[in-house]
Amino acid sequence: MQIIKTVSEMRAFINGVRAQNKTVGLVPTMGYFHQGHLSLMENAKRQCDVVVTSIYVNPLQFGPKEDLASYPRDLQRDTEMAKTVGVDAIFTPEDKEMYPGGFDTTVVMGETLTNKLCGSRRPGHFTGVATVVIKLFNIAQPDRAYFGQKDAQQVLVINRMVQDLNINVEVVSVPIVRENDGLAMSSRNIYLTPAQRRVAPILYQSLLQAKEEVEKGQRDATFIYSIVADKIKSEPLAEVDYVELYSYPDLKSIGTLKEKALLAVAVKFGGARLIDNIILEA
Ligand code: AMP
Repeated sequence: MQIIKTVSEMRAFINGVRAQNKTVGLVPTMGYFHQGHLSLMENAKRQCDVVVTSIYVNPLQFGPKEDLASYPRDLQRDTEMAKTVGVDAIFTPEDKEMYPGGFDTTVVMGETLTNKLCGSRRPGHFTGVATVVIKLFNIAQPDRAYFGQKDAQQVLVINRMVQDLNINVEVVSVPIVRENDGLAMSSRNIYLTPAQRRVAPILYQSLLQAKEEVEKGQRDATFIYSIVADKIKSEPLAEVDYVELYSYPDLKSIGTLKEKALLAVAVKFGGARLIDNIILEA
């Protein structure tokens, strides 16, 4: 497995792959791997000849009060884990390689998909995500790119950008990988104290409770929303950032559940902010 730090080395690597008529799968990440990341890489490995994983904690997608400085990093450990699933190259550029001499071009997504959920709580976040992802697409020129359904809004934003800008890449969404107790795996779970970690599965439990009600016939959006909000609010260590329900995949407001809907939550445990979601089907 190769560790690549510069855009020019990455281009040379990709040119070599292309010369052999091989397909490329890209897995963009911020590192500090867990099984969720590995699942993306395994999917890529099954569908593509060569798999490139990028590890880049992109400053552009962090707000001024967010955890850019403290975000967990461990390249050695990530390298070992990526090797176990057969990743061919890790692209891990420094900021000066990604944004040399500052930066004056950004990809700004329209509001339809970004004025809600994490987009409204993290101003500029999806501009940062879209910009870095299009840069990674241009650098690695993948046939397919893999994203986790854990960041459901991100998948929709990337899909929209790919469609709107005619980017020649297939976006593949991979299901959420969870711990045994249901907590969605996340690099940020490391921030949780033991007491917070014990109660953190409440995110998924509340989503499952809502899903059960829908399966029993409940269709009222306010009712479904309040099942989740009430359950999370009953936990003193948890602070609800948002609970939201939209039609899926177009993210329109709904009063009554019809066909598919995205039920998504963001919850703070002290300084740690965790997200989770589930797709409901009427
Ligand atoms: P991150 O390093 O947190 O930016 O995540 C990199 C990619 O892994 C994103 O596409 C995430 O959606 C995906 N991902 C993160 N956690 C999970 C998970 N628990 N299950 C599936 N995919 C995940």
